[in-house]
Amino acid sequence: MKIICIGRNYTEHISELENEKPDEPVIFIKPDSSILPKSHPFVIPEFSDEVHHEVEVLVKINKLGKHIQPKFSHKYYHEIGLGIDFTARDLQSKLKAKGLPWEKAKGFDGATLIGKKWFDKNDFNLDNLNFSLLKNNEIVQQGNTKLMLWKIDELIAYVSRFFTLKIGDIIFTGTPAGVGKVQEDDVLVGRIEDQQVFKVNVK
Ligand code: ZN
Repeated sequence: MKIICIGRNYTEHISELENEKPDEPVIFIKPDSSILPKSHPFVIPEFSDEVHHEVEVLVKINKLGKHIQPKFSHKYYHEIGLGIDFTARDLQSKLKAKGLPWEKAKGFDGATLIGKKWFDKNDFNLDNLNFSLLKNNEIVQQGNTKLMLWKIDELIAYVSRFFTLKIGDIIFTGTPAGVGKVQEDDVLVGRIEDQQVFKVNVK
């Protein structure tokens, strides 16, 4: 399976919605080896002094597809979830400055947290879904899918122009404002509406 991530998909405030949006979404892929094994702590890698949490709504693909039209995207997923796209920001900044790919900064072992709970998409209004990340019991990221520049159905259509979507692929739909550094002994809890989706310790 592959993990497809969307970059810069949120406006910080509703007022910014009127700003011009970029022409196309930013896409990158994380390898399946980056998935943090269930109930393991997240271990800060030795090559970074600044790993950031990026909490994101996830979409699980359940049907093979390519060149999907947005109006049919809904047929390609049943479930949504929540995860963290851990990012070695210091390393990413260096790579970006040189115009190099980001893989090392986002695709390292453990860099992909996939919450173990999945939800039927029909149980929520996907255009107005609240989600959040708590660090040591304090809310650090709070998002709502109404602030997405590209909605889930548009993302699926766009991604499938380039990559065949396969059963089990997961799309990370982008992170809202509030990304920040994680430190040893932090406890991160992700929520969709008022339901806890994951809890992870940082080591
Ligand atoms: Zn991300």
